[in-house]
Amino acid sequence: MENSTNCPKLEKCPIYIKNVFLNPNAGETYRKIYCTAGFAKYSTCKRLIVSEKTGKPVPETIMPNSSLSVEEIISRL
Ligand code: SF4
Repeated sequence: MENSTNCPKLEKCPIYIKNVFLNPNAGETYRKIYCTAGFAKYSTCKRLIVSEKTGKPVPETIMPNSSLSVEEIISRL
């Protein structure tokens, strides 16, 4: 799994499956640079890190490259 090209959360993640952005290009950019870009990239996604640490759903407002730290995001869940 860790060597797969796609993030393991891809099928359930709103950033990937829904268009949560006003600008549709923004979602496509995140998908390309995180979700389907291989383990080295998607493993840095803060949504994925928080989800794996907590087992909780991460709000749609949290982006893969959120300026909040992982701890800050967790404290707001
Ligand atoms: S936004 Fe993050 S958690 Fe969601 S599918 Fe992309 S890499 Fe995975």
